[in-house]
Amino acid sequence: MSSKMASCIFCKIIKGEIPCLKLFESDKTLAFLDINPLSKGHALVIPKFHGEKLADIPDDHLGEILPVVKKLIAATGATDYNILQNNGRIAHQQVDHVHFHMIPKPNTEQGLN
Ligand code: 5GP
Ligand code: ZN
Repeated sequence: MSSKMASCIFCKIIKGEIPCLKLFESDKTLAFLDINPLSKGHALVIPKFHGEKLADIPDDHLGEILPVVKKLIAATGATDYNILQNNGRIAHQQVDHVHFHMIPKPNTEQGLN
């Protein structure tokens, strides 16, 4: 195991060493609520493979990600949402384990956040 992987927060979440609010899990993919949500239901979907950037992840791990994102969209009932995936510091990546954000965007005109 590389030292980067050993110290990776999301690898620790995968191993159960750090708790998370789990939404979905399979042999290749994990989805959980973001600890600092930008909106209600803000979720992260990650491959259970340590890679810093999208290009580092094998296709078979990437293949399940978007179907899981779709499940989360359906589960939250969000009609409007952002899917966000940052790579590198300049692109605002803070956690160096590939992750997809699913950020529901409720209609604030209806008094929801
Ligand atoms: P980035 O800027 O790298 O695309 O986003 C990283 C995301 O991971 C942030 O939205 C941040 O709130 C979330 N995050 C960081 N540490 C933890 C953690 O320990 N648990 C959970 N659930 N989310 C985390
Ligand atoms: Zn990792």
